[in-house]
Amino acid sequence: MKVGILALQGAVREHRNMLHRLGVETVDVLNPQDLHGIGGLILPGGESTTVGKLMARYGLLTPVAEAGRAGLPIFGTCTGLILLSKHINNSAQLSLGLMDTWVERNAFGRQQASFEADMPIPALGGRPFHAIFIRAPYIAKVGNAVTVLLRHEEKILFARQGNLLAAAFHPELTDDTRIHEYFMAEFSLA
Ligand code: GLN
Repeated sequence: MKVGILALQGAVREHRNMLHRLGVETVDVLNPQDLHGIGGLILPGGESTTVGKLMARYGLLTPVAEAGRAGLPIFGTCTGLILLSKHINNSAQLSLGLMDTWVERNAFGRQQASFEADMPIPALGGRPFHAIFIRAPYIAKVGNAVTVLLRHEEKILFARQGNLLAAAFHPELTDDTRIHEYFMAEFSLA
């Protein structure tokens, strides 16, 4: 099963490398035709206002939203989490509007604009996950359909709603493949 990676901006190569390490074939998604034949899609980190505008310009916003509503597994990291959200506080930026999440952008304050921390994620089992945050968002509130996979000091940092998975941090910047493996396994992409 091929997995698409939205390749308009941001940490595309890192996700690609991670999936290749797992033996997964990837497709760079740059226009709507690239969505044909993929079993899942990754929305990498970057800058969400820019990526939203680029998705609209390349005609991807509506087809990706429709594919997500039709059940395509989508995993968003950081900017990807913002793009998946229905509610982005204090912003009218373009998004896919798929997850019942209320997101705060750049929400960790200047001191913590970028930071790393080991966080226990029960769904992954075993040792804590080394989470890297870069001008990260967090989810302040979720609807009933959302399962929280990681909460830290009232901030929701990893969550799932049906076929949608969202992380505020960057698993693709670590050597730990467990979150990508979780995405592949939970949605039978492997
Ligand atoms: N601050 C960025 C945004 O609002 C997200 C940062 C990231 O993806 N690393 O889109």
